[in-house]
Amino acid sequence: MNFSDLGLGDELLKAIEDIGYTTPTPIQEKAIPIVLMARDLIGLAQTGTGKTASFTLPMIEMLSSGRARSRMPRSLVLAPTRELAAQVGENFDLYGKYHKLNKALLVGGESMGDQIKILEKGADVLIATPGRLLDLFERGQILLSDIKILVIDEADRMLDMGFIPDIEKIISLIPITRQTLLFSATMPDEIKGLSEKFLSNPKMVSVAPPASPAKTVDHRMIEATPRTKKTVLKKLIDREEVKNAFVFCNRKKDVDMLGKWLREKGFSAEPLHGDMVQSKRTETLQAFKDGKIVLLVCSDVAARGLDVSGVSHVFNFDVPFNAEDYVHRIGRTGRAGQSGKAWSLITESDEKFVAAIRKLIGDEIPTEKVEAASKSASKSDSKSASKTSTKTTGEQTEKKPRARVLGPGKSSSPKAAQPRPAPQRNSSRNADNDSVDENAFDENNLPAFLRK
Ligand code: AMP
Repeated sequence: MNFSDLGLGDELLKAIEDIGYTTPTPIQEKAIPIVLMARDLIGLAQTGTGKTASFTLPMIEMLSSGRARSRMPRSLVLAPTRELAAQVGENFDLYGKYHKLNKALLVGGESMGDQIKILEKGADVLIATPGRLLDLFERGQILLSDIKILVIDEADRMLDMGFIPDIEKIISLIPITRQTLLFSATMPDEIKGLSEKFLSNPKMVSVAPPASPAKTVDHRMIEATPRTKKTVLKKLIDREEVKNAFVFCNRKKDVDMLGKWLREKGFSAEPLHGDMVQSKRTETLQAFKDGKIVLLVCSDVAARGLDVSGVSHVFNFDVPFNAEDYVHRIGRTGRAGQSGKAWSLITESDEKFVAAIRKLIGDEIPTEKVEAASKSASKSDSKSASKTSTKTTGEQTEKKPRARVLGPGKSSSPKAAQPRPAPQRNSSRNADNDSVDENAFDENNLPAFLRK
């Protein structure tokens, strides 16, 4: 099937051609004709499947006739995070380059002045995070009574973030005659309830079973201990051909700490989490997209759904508490048909989270075992351990890939030369399993195959 078979106009087809997409992805093939028929839609699709274009393209087509009135946007896209909202906005710019549509982006942490000016002129598309939208509505800056198309993107994430009451409130402010599109990677009961309440006879399209990882991601696990985690990560980055990677931590303080530690080890690494000021978040994300940062150390909220093309790796420094987050995290690589690799560091106390991930995915995940790896040193190794062993030992493999992950203009920074804090005995005993133990850098604690 071609894009021209979907009912999109010439301007859009030209914009798509300019970008270089040749064929619609399955969600686009299924969803676009339904949206163009003005039907309500539930799209069960993960990020990375092309789902954003599956609603932005037909929306642009439908909005191309008619005009927006001052402070009365004609369509609304609700996204859970600022970054996702910005990304949806970028999609509108990209696909709508031959249309004269006004877009306003309302996200927290940024000045509202410019956005209000756009709203005053009349916005065809309003893209917003729920909190900021309600804030502006309550101040009387905006009317939602002209909204004809409502999109709720990443609905399950909205649920995780506690936004459902806000969403319900926003929907109650929008005319009932609207068209509603709801996208979600998974369909928990609360989201099912939401769609039953607010969607009218919706068509359901699904492109992959809920919460299944993309086939293009080779995902694996590796055993570690709280003390060895950082070193195992470093060795993994060294031995893999890392072009760029997301490194996930469960906690914001660990994002900062691990980012700092990786920089000290000479890597091009920067943190991204929800406590950072918005301008810094935007700047960091842009630098990562531009290839100026190689390792983006981040929390779930900051990274969920971020579309950075061509990311080679994902490292889960911490196993996510929520199994569905695992699928989302590893989905940051292997996007749009490209292949990617994901590694998760697992410790003994992650057992129940790992079991939940396996259950959700319904499949075994190849795991490099510490025991097997240790045995590899005594010749009774398993296949994978011996492979790992040859890959990770020796000067050449130690140095070459490292150079590859050093960012542009970032040789071993002066920071890298700083002495590391003296190891403290028993530090692991108090170590929070999910936090970075700053002092745990003892080569002797490593599995044999990871020792130099
Ligand atoms: P999404 O699932 O919306 O986050 O999109 C994932 C990625 O797929 C983005 O980088 C899009 O630019 C890309 N993409 C969307 N549609 C297509 C297509 N038809 N062909 C190739 N890439 C696409």
